[in-house]
Amino acid sequence: MIDPDYSHPEKEKAIAKADAKLKGFFQSQRVEVSRAIGKHLKAKKASADKDAEQRADEIIASLSWAVWDGLVPDFQDLLGSTGTEAVSIAMEALEDAEAGRDVFSLSNETVMEYARNRAAEMVGRKWVDGVLVDNPNAQWAITSSTREYLRELVCDALNSSWTPSVLAQKIDESIAFGSYRAELIARTETAMAYTAATVDVGKRVGATTKTIQMSNLHDVDDVCDAAHEAGEVPIDKPYPGGSLHVPLHPNCRCVEMVHVPKKGNVNGGATE
Ligand SMILES: [Zn+2]
Repeated sequence: MIDPDYSHPEKEKAIAKADAKLKGFFQSQRVEVSRAIGKHLKAKKASADKDAEQRADEIIASLSWAVWDGLVPDFQDLLGSTGTEAVSIAMEALEDAEAGRDVFSLSNETVMEYARNRAAEMVGRKWVDGVLVDNPNAQWAITSSTREYLRELVCDALNSSWTPSVLAQKIDESIAFGSYRAELIARTETAMAYTAATVDVGKRVGATTKTIQMSNLHDVDDVCDAAHEAGEVPIDKPYPGGSLHVPLHPNCRCVEMVHVPKKGNVNGGATE
Protein backbone atom coordinates (compact mmCIF):
# COMPACT_ATOMS: atom_id res chain seq x y z
CA MET A 1 0.00 0.00 0.00
CA ILE A 2 1.30 3.37 -0.96
CA ASP A 3 1.07 6.19 1.50
CA PRO A 4 -0.66 8.94 -0.47
CA ASP A 5 0.93 11.51 1.77
CA TYR A 6 4.35 10.22 0.86
CA SER A 7 6.62 13.14 0.30
CA HIS A 8 10.18 13.34 -0.81
CA PRO A 9 12.82 15.12 1.23
CA GLU A 10 14.11 17.16 -1.72
CA LYS A 11 10.63 18.21 -2.69
CA GLU A 12 9.82 19.25 0.88
CA LYS A 13 13.15 21.09 1.06
CA ALA A 14 12.35 22.91 -2.18
CA ILE A 15 8.91 23.86 -0.85
CA ALA A 16 10.43 25.17 2.39
CA LYS A 17 13.08 27.16 0.50
CA ALA A 18 10.57 28.59 -1.96
CA ASP A 19 8.29 29.48 0.92
CA ALA A 20 11.08 31.23 2.85
CA LYS A 21 12.24 33.07 -0.26
CA LEU A 22 8.74 34.33 -1.00
CA LYS A 23 8.03 35.28 2.61
CA GLY A 24 11.20 37.39 2.73
CA PHE A 25 10.40 38.99 -0.60
CA PHE A 26 6.79 39.66 0.37
CA GLN A 27 7.89 41.24 3.61
CA SER A 28 10.11 43.75 1.85
CA GLN A 29 7.49 44.38 -0.83
CA ARG A 30 4.86 45.02 1.81
CA VAL A 31 6.97 47.91 3.10
CA GLU A 32 8.09 49.21 -0.31
CA VAL A 33 4.67 49.07 -1.88
CA SER A 34 2.95 50.69 1.11
CA ARG A 35 5.45 53.51 0.99
CA ALA A 36 5.15 54.00 -2.78
CA ILE A 37 1.35 53.96 -2.81
CA GLY A 38 1.26 56.15 0.31
CA LYS A 39 3.11 58.89 -1.59
CA HIS A 40 0.51 58.80 -4.33
CA LEU A 41 -2.32 59.07 -1.83
CA LYS A 42 -0.81 62.23 -0.42
CA ALA A 43 -0.70 63.68 -3.92
CA LYS A 44 -4.37 62.87 -4.45
CA LYS A 45 -5.64 66.43 -4.71
CA ALA A 46 -3.33 67.22 -7.59
CA SER A 47 -5.26 64.91 -9.86
CA ALA A 48 -8.73 65.05 -8.40
CA ASP A 49 -10.17 65.29 -11.90
CA LYS A 50 -9.41 61.63 -12.64
CA ASP A 51 -11.60 58.84 -11.35
CA ALA A 52 -10.41 56.31 -8.81
CA GLU A 53 -10.15 53.42 -11.26
CA GLN A 54 -7.96 55.37 -13.62
CA ARG A 55 -5.76 56.68 -10.83
CA ALA A 56 -5.46 53.20 -9.35
CA ASP A 57 -4.23 51.86 -12.69
CA GLU A 58 -1.61 54.60 -12.89
CA ILE A 59 -0.44 54.00 -9.34
CA ILE A 60 -0.18 50.23 -9.84
CA ALA A 61 1.72 50.71 -13.10
CA SER A 62 4.16 53.07 -11.39
CA LEU A 63 5.21 50.45 -8.82
CA SER A 64 8.56 48.81 -9.28
CA TRP A 65 7.61 45.49 -10.89
CA ALA A 66 11.14 44.80 -12.11
CA VAL A 67 12.18 43.81 -8.57
CA TRP A 68 10.17 40.62 -9.06
CA ASP A 69 12.81 39.49 -11.54
CA GLY A 70 14.96 38.93 -8.47
CA LEU A 71 12.91 35.81 -7.74
CA VAL A 72 13.76 34.21 -11.08
CA PRO A 73 17.24 32.74 -10.36
CA ASP A 74 16.12 31.22 -7.06
CA PHE A 75 12.99 29.71 -8.51
CA GLN A 76 14.90 28.43 -11.49
CA ASP A 77 17.16 26.54 -9.05
CA LEU A 78 14.35 25.31 -6.86
CA LEU A 79 12.10 24.13 -9.67
CA GLY A 80 15.10 22.56 -11.37
CA SER A 81 16.14 20.56 -8.31
CA THR A 82 12.56 19.46 -7.67
CA GLY A 83 12.29 18.32 -11.28
CA THR A 84 15.57 16.43 -11.30
CA GLU A 85 14.55 14.64 -8.15
CA ALA A 86 11.25 13.66 -9.75
CA VAL A 87 13.15 12.35 -12.78
CA SER A 88 15.39 10.19 -10.58
CA ILE A 89 12.43 8.82 -8.69
CA ALA A 90 10.50 8.04 -11.85
CA MET A 91 13.59 6.32 -13.32
CA GLU A 92 13.97 4.20 -10.20
CA ALA A 93 10.34 3.18 -10.37
CA LEU A 94 10.81 2.28 -14.00
CA GLU A 95 13.61 -0.20 -13.31
CA ASP A 96 14.53 -0.20 -16.97
CA ALA A 97 18.30 0.11 -17.08
CA GLU A 98 18.37 0.02 -20.86
CA ALA A 99 16.05 2.97 -21.40
CA GLY A 100 17.85 4.52 -18.45
CA ARG A 101 20.68 6.74 -19.46
CA ASP A 102 19.14 8.49 -22.47
CA VAL A 103 15.81 9.08 -20.85
CA PHE A 104 17.51 10.32 -17.72
CA SER A 105 19.58 12.95 -19.48
CA LEU A 106 16.86 14.02 -21.92
CA SER A 107 14.31 14.39 -19.15
CA ASN A 108 16.76 16.33 -17.03
CA GLU A 109 17.27 18.72 -19.94
CA THR A 110 13.52 19.19 -20.23
CA VAL A 111 13.28 19.77 -16.51
CA MET A 112 15.95 22.49 -16.54
CA GLU A 113 14.29 24.15 -19.51
CA TYR A 114 10.94 24.00 -17.72
CA ALA A 115 12.47 25.54 -14.57
CA ARG A 116 14.08 28.35 -16.55
CA ASN A 117 10.90 29.22 -18.43
CA ARG A 118 8.51 28.80 -15.54
CA ALA A 119 10.63 30.89 -13.16
CA ALA A 120 10.31 33.74 -15.69
CA GLU A 121 6.64 33.11 -16.43
CA MET A 122 5.66 33.09 -12.77
CA VAL A 123 6.69 36.74 -12.51
CA GLY A 124 5.02 37.66 -15.81
CA ARG A 125 8.18 37.45 -17.90
CA LYS A 126 9.80 35.33 -20.56
CA TRP A 127 13.33 34.85 -21.87
CA VAL A 128 14.21 36.36 -25.23
CA ASP A 129 17.85 36.05 -26.27
CA GLY A 130 18.92 35.63 -22.67
CA VAL A 131 17.03 38.71 -21.47
CA LEU A 132 13.84 38.80 -19.39
CA VAL A 133 11.03 40.66 -21.14
CA ASP A 134 7.32 41.12 -20.42
CA ASN A 135 5.17 38.13 -21.23
CA PRO A 136 1.57 39.18 -21.83
CA ASN A 137 0.55 35.51 -22.13
CA ALA A 138 2.06 34.38 -18.84
CA GLN A 139 -0.09 31.76 -17.10
CA TRP A 140 -0.63 31.92 -13.34
CA ALA A 141 1.75 34.84 -12.98
CA ILE A 142 1.99 35.85 -9.34
CA THR A 143 2.66 39.41 -10.47
CA SER A 144 -0.77 39.67 -12.12
CA SER A 145 -2.61 38.40 -9.06
CA THR A 146 -0.58 40.79 -6.89
CA ARG A 147 -1.56 43.64 -9.23
CA GLU A 148 -5.21 42.68 -8.84
CA TYR A 149 -5.04 42.54 -5.04
CA LEU A 150 -3.28 45.90 -4.88
CA ARG A 151 -5.49 47.55 -7.44
CA GLU A 152 -8.55 46.75 -5.38
CA LEU A 153 -6.90 48.16 -2.24
CA VAL A 154 -5.83 51.34 -4.04
CA CYS A 155 -9.36 51.89 -5.37
CA ASP A 156 -10.72 51.51 -1.84
CA ALA A 157 -8.03 53.85 -0.55
CA LEU A 158 -8.94 56.52 -3.09
CA ASN A 159 -12.68 56.14 -2.71
CA SER A 160 -12.54 56.14 1.09
CA SER A 161 -9.75 58.70 1.43
CA TRP A 162 -7.52 56.39 3.46
CA THR A 163 -4.41 57.88 5.00
CA PRO A 164 -1.12 56.20 4.01
CA SER A 165 -1.01 54.48 7.39
CA VAL A 166 -4.50 53.01 6.97
CA LEU A 167 -3.46 51.79 3.56
CA ALA A 168 -0.29 50.26 5.00
CA GLN A 169 -2.38 48.41 7.56
CA LYS A 170 -4.78 47.15 4.89
CA ILE A 171 -1.84 45.92 2.80
CA ASP A 172 -0.50 44.10 5.87
CA GLU A 173 -3.85 42.40 6.35
CA SER A 174 -4.32 41.58 2.68
CA ILE A 175 -3.54 38.19 1.17
CA ALA A 176 -1.21 39.89 -1.37
CA PHE A 177 1.99 39.60 0.69
CA GLY A 178 0.71 37.21 3.32
CA SER A 179 2.39 34.02 4.50
CA TYR A 180 -0.59 31.92 3.40
CA ARG A 181 -0.04 33.06 -0.16
CA ALA A 182 3.71 32.46 0.00
CA GLU A 183 3.17 28.87 1.02
CA LEU A 184 0.44 28.35 -1.53
CA ILE A 185 2.70 29.54 -4.35
CA ALA A 186 5.63 27.47 -3.05
CA ARG A 187 3.53 24.30 -2.97
CA THR A 188 1.78 24.86 -6.27
CA GLU A 189 4.90 25.74 -8.25
CA THR A 190 6.82 22.80 -6.79
CA ALA A 191 3.98 20.42 -7.58
CA MET A 192 3.84 21.69 -11.16
CA ALA A 193 7.58 21.18 -11.64
CA TYR A 194 7.38 17.74 -10.09
CA THR A 195 4.53 16.55 -12.27
CA ALA A 196 6.06 18.01 -15.43
CA ALA A 197 9.16 15.88 -14.77
CA THR A 198 7.20 12.68 -14.05
CA VAL A 199 5.12 13.13 -17.19
CA ASP A 200 8.19 13.80 -19.30
CA VAL A 201 9.89 10.60 -18.19
CA GLY A 202 6.61 8.72 -18.62
CA LYS A 203 6.14 9.87 -22.19
CA ARG A 204 9.69 8.98 -23.11
CA VAL A 205 9.18 5.42 -21.95
CA GLY A 206 5.76 5.00 -23.55
CA ALA A 207 3.32 5.86 -20.77
CA THR A 208 -0.16 6.25 -22.19
CA THR A 209 -2.30 6.97 -19.14
CA LYS A 210 -2.19 8.74 -15.79
CA THR A 211 -4.01 8.53 -12.48
CA ILE A 212 -4.33 10.68 -9.40
CA GLN A 213 -3.07 9.49 -6.08
CA MET A 214 -4.89 11.58 -3.54
CA SER A 215 -3.19 13.09 -0.55
CA ASN A 216 -4.61 11.95 2.77
CA LEU A 217 -4.61 15.61 3.77
CA HIS A 218 -7.50 15.91 1.38
CA ASP A 219 -10.50 16.30 3.68
CA VAL A 220 -12.93 18.19 1.46
CA ASP A 221 -14.40 16.72 -1.72
CA ASP A 222 -13.21 18.69 -4.68
CA VAL A 223 -12.05 18.38 -8.27
CA CYS A 224 -9.36 15.87 -7.16
CA ASP A 225 -11.97 13.32 -6.03
CA ALA A 226 -13.62 13.35 -9.44
CA ALA A 227 -10.22 13.01 -11.12
CA HIS A 228 -9.29 10.15 -8.83
CA GLU A 229 -12.57 8.35 -9.49
CA ALA A 230 -12.04 8.65 -13.23
CA GLY A 231 -9.24 6.08 -12.89
CA GLU A 232 -6.77 5.86 -15.76
CA VAL A 233 -7.07 8.88 -18.01
CA PRO A 234 -5.20 9.15 -21.36
CA ILE A 235 -2.00 11.06 -20.65
CA ASP A 236 -2.82 13.98 -22.97
CA LYS A 237 -6.51 14.24 -22.05
CA PRO A 238 -7.68 16.52 -19.25
CA TYR A 239 -9.08 15.11 -16.01
CA PRO A 240 -12.74 15.73 -15.17
CA GLY A 241 -12.61 19.37 -14.13
CA GLY A 242 -10.47 20.33 -17.11
CA SER A 243 -6.88 20.29 -15.81
CA LEU A 244 -4.29 18.38 -17.75
CA HIS A 245 -2.00 17.59 -14.83
CA VAL A 246 -1.61 17.78 -11.07
CA PRO A 247 -1.85 20.19 -9.23
CA LEU A 248 -5.55 20.37 -10.05
CA HIS A 249 -6.02 23.41 -7.85
CA PRO A 250 -3.75 25.74 -5.85
CA ASN A 251 -2.24 23.94 -2.85
CA CYS A 252 -3.21 20.51 -4.25
CA ARG A 253 -1.02 17.85 -2.62
CA CYS A 254 -2.07 14.96 -4.82
CA VAL A 255 0.50 13.02 -6.82
CA GLU A 256 0.16 12.10 -10.47
CA MET A 257 1.16 8.62 -11.59
CA VAL A 258 1.80 7.71 -15.20
CA HIS A 259 1.33 4.21 -16.52
CA VAL A 260 3.31 2.32 -19.09
CA PRO A 261 1.36 -0.56 -20.64
CA LYS A 262 2.70 -3.91 -19.34
CA LYS A 263 5.63 -2.24 -17.62
CA GLY A 264 4.02 -1.01 -14.48
CA ASN A 265 3.58 2.48 -13.22
CA VAL A 266 5.93 5.35 -12.88
CA ASN A 267 5.25 8.00 -10.34
CA GLY A 268 6.62 10.33 -7.79
CA GLY A 269 7.71 7.67 -5.37
CA ALA A 270 5.97 4.36 -5.73
CA THR A 271 5.20 1.51 -8.05
CA GLU A 272 2.17 -0.69 -7.87
ZN1 LIG B 1 -5.51 17.46 -4.98
